[in-house]
Amino acid sequence: MSKFYDVIIAGGGVIGASCAYQLSKRKDLKVALIDAKRPGNATRASAGGLWAIGESVGLGCGVIFFRMMSANRKRETQGAAVAVDASTPHILPESFFDFALQSNALYPALHRELKDNHGMDFKFEKTGLKFVIYDDEDRLYAEHIVGCIPHLADQVRWLDQAALRETEPSVSHEARGALEFLCDHQVSPFRLADAYMEGARQNGVDIFVNTNVTGVLHHGTRVTGVQTTEEGVFHCKTLINAGGAWAADLSEWATGIRIPVKPVKGQILLTERMPKILNGCLTTSDCYVAQKDNGEILIGSTTEDKGFDVTTTYPEIAGLVQGAVRCLPELKDVNLKRTWAGLRPGSPDELPILGPMRGVEGYLNACGHFRTGILTSAITGVLLDKLVNDEPLPLDITPFLADRFETAPVKQELELEMA
Ligand SMILES: Cc1cc2nc3c(=O)[nH]c(=O)nc-3n(C[C@H](O)[C@H](O)[C@H](O)COP(=O)(O)OP(=O)(O)OC[C@H]3O[C@@H](n4cnc5c(N)ncnc54)[C@H](O)[C@@H]3O)c2cc1C
Repeated sequence: MSKFYDVIIAGGGVIGASCAYQLSKRKDLKVALIDAKRPGNATRASAGGLWAIGESVGLGCGVIFFRMMSANRKRETQGAAVAVDASTPHILPESFFDFALQSNALYPALHRELKDNHGMDFKFEKTGLKFVIYDDEDRLYAEHIVGCIPHLADQVRWLDQAALRETEPSVSHEARGALEFLCDHQVSPFRLADAYMEGARQNGVDIFVNTNVTGVLHHGTRVTGVQTTEEGVFHCKTLINAGGAWAADLSEWATGIRIPVKPVKGQILLTERMPKILNGCLTTSDCYVAQKDNGEILIGSTTEDKGFDVTTTYPEIAGLVQGAVRCLPELKDVNLKRTWAGLRPGSPDELPILGPMRGVEGYLNACGHFRTGILTSAITGVLLDKLVNDEPLPLDITPFLADRFETAPVKQELELEMA
């Protein structure tokens, strides 16, 4: 049986869920979210860092690239889908800083809103992010970062060895100090996605799980709906592509053009609960470490070009463990609870792909969030809600439009919807 909606969101990771939540606050819109729950869903794999400055300057998983390039310490297998060259990791453009920082600033209010109105607590914690400095190379890199962000000087703090040990007594004596980003915090990524989803559901969004979108319907150049395997045809006025690492298929069906989103594998591991040994999140030249509200510690993450493979592999996991024990020696006695891998939706310039595409009506991208989709989900939901409702945007999305890529149509003519 056909179903009719104002907006259909294809993909129910953190990005689709955030769009659904923001749109659900409009009482006049009928919205459906359709998700297939594919293995490798990035949201369920994530660390939950809201590392707005850290990620914008190439820390997080990016620092692993740095070491690979500069000291050749990492094996080939940690290569990236995004081109690894002398500029990787690099400081992302000003437009990305704005995007990341504006999103970051939304979390305190969003946390209160979802907790008070919908009973969902995504465990927002003010932690800061410290880049741990072991040697001269780390210090040079940290100084380079600080030199690149003079406008954020009030959000950056140098810690010498004594100050670092005072705030993080469990950190190894090998650490000489740290560079801290004061506004970089963390959430539980699973709870964040669940909170958006539950808020949307309570506000009236229809959620279809285990449902695969297999095609897109058109009338002329307008997208008019989707075909699914499990629930048949859905009609809509606007389709939002929140397909994560699979977004290129959806864009091809909708517009005839494959947007350049590719899976970038990340392996990560979780320890059993420990007494609180960290006051904030740490990133080093080997890994990052984040203790969550329940005491478990996440250690991440690799950056690999392996297509849709989501296996976990000994050398990569062992490398992360060694890096974590180097930073926090007491981790050597802790049990590992679980390891897993997820697929970041990577784009060639590491920027998200948002908004409309030339020549197609009724279609919006909300994809390509690579390694910061948890952080930037908040602003993405706000932007997509405003795009659907044709309202002024809080930031210029020109740098994030798909049209920035020179991409030839995959097929010249879109199939017309059958009457
Ligand atoms: C190891 C790791 C650590 C990370 N750590 C962080 C972090 O600390 N902070 C941060 O901000 N980000 C982090 N990220 C990145 C972040 O997880 C992603 O950017 C974000 O989850 C992307 O969300 P998404 O909704 O676009 O994609 P996904 O979460 O992958 O969701 C896409 C969904 O779309 C569905 N789908 C696709 N095609 C179809 C279709 N045709 N029909 C129906 N459903 C479909 C899929 O099944 C999937 O459920 C990390 C990622 C990894 C892998």
